Amino acid sequence: MVNLDLKKTLTSERTKTGKKAFKTAFANYTSNRSQALKKIDEKALKEQLKKIKEYSISNLDDLKKKAIANLKEQKIQVFIAKDAKEACDIALKHIPKKETLVKSKSNTVEEIGLLEKFKGRNEVIETDCGDFILQLCSDQASHPVTPALHIPIEKIAKEIKEKYKDKVENNPEKIVEWINKFLRKKILNANIGLTGANVISSDGAIFILENEGNISLVSRIPKKHIIVTGIDKIVPTYQDAMTICQACAVWGTGATLPTYINVISSPSKTADVQKELVYGAQGTKEVILILVDNGRSEIIKQGFGELLHCINCGSCLYFCPIYRQVFDKYGFHYIGGRGIGMTLFQEGVKKAFDSGLYFCTTCKLCKENCPLEIDIPELVRKLRKMSIKKGHETPVNEKMMENIRAMGNPFGEEVKDGKIPKELFCC
Ligand code: SF4
Repeated sequence: MVNLDLKKTLTSERTKTGKKAFKTAFANYTSNRSQALKKIDEKALKEQLKKIKEYSISNLDDLKKKAIANLKEQKIQVFIAKDAKEACDIALKHIPKKETLVKSKSNTVEEIGLLEKFKGRNEVIETDCGDFILQLCSDQASHPVTPALHIPIEKIAKEIKEKYKDKVENNPEKIVEWINKFLRKKILNANIGLTGANVISSDGAIFILENEGNISLVSRIPKKHIIVTGIDKIVPTYQDAMTICQACAVWGTGATLPTYINVISSPSKTADVQKELVYGAQGTKEVILILVDNGRSEIIKQGFGELLHCINCGSCLYFCPIYRQVFDKYGFHYIGGRGIGMTLFQEGVKKAFDSGLYFCTTCKLCKENCPLEIDIPELVRKLRKMSIKKGHETPVNEKMMENIRAMGNPFGEEVKDGKIPKELFCC
């Protein structure tokens, strides 16, 4: 049985308010995206993207070796973690107990469960506006790019009043201003910044995109910057990485370019005193990159490499009929059909089954709206076959199979002309 209590999810206050907020978000997103698409050569960008990701995933081992060698040469400390536990252990080794961390949005940090490990050990301050709102409201992300999409403005103001005894108007500008003031002090006092990364070029650069400016601060002001990301983010060249950055902006937020592209190719340095190279001028003195495998090599080995073509723009979710009903309850660490695929390889078939492996209607709206045209429904079909082999089948499918065995048809009764069977099993 699927663990998720659908009735409870569908009727919850969170889903109801989420749907209301989603309407506005969807209208804004689609209008912005169509404006952005008018300004670029969509077909050419999509073709280029596909070529880059297909090549990168097919040649990942070589690109990984090249990226590690180049980044190390540029004094970035690089670690490979085979799974979530190893990734957490490496990160914790570089984070002293009681040290406050300032963090930006990172799907990989969520994926490896690092935040759990900080409980009672380190204070973690979310600096992305959406993630800060989630932390404030003790809620979970409902979208990879707009995580607090489901939280109404009144709730944000109310939480600020209750938690910080401060009054702020129900006005987006005032709320953002309040968050800016609060976070600025925290960032200035932190010694460790924790972020993800959007792309890594094998020629030795890490790309982190943002619109808010928090990542620029988190990756420069603290003495140490720790980056946690998947091995699938590696592409051959700097130019390829820039193409992905543009696609992330267009399909992620509906802008032609992200506001900021942070390109990090070494710790901060200067040779202005006697021409002697000194690390840690005005930016971070130490940059640590943790490259996480956590099932990705297995995904490629098992023929599901297309799952890793994803650039995490979240475009597919806006159009997914299931996501629009249950939001983040469709998926686990990663939301939606693609997220189910990641879950299966990272957490096992049972978890994927419980997280909505059978939710997909195979309508293909995700594929139509994906810049890489990832065929999620087809991948989901293949994943379902894997799950059946492992004995995870929905009760409805089991019943249909029973009927076919007994009656030679899925309806479980004799089929007669002009008579509609009681149970059609079509929805
Ligand atoms: S599957 Fe495609 S549309 Fe969905 S998040 Fe990934 S790249 Fe974006």
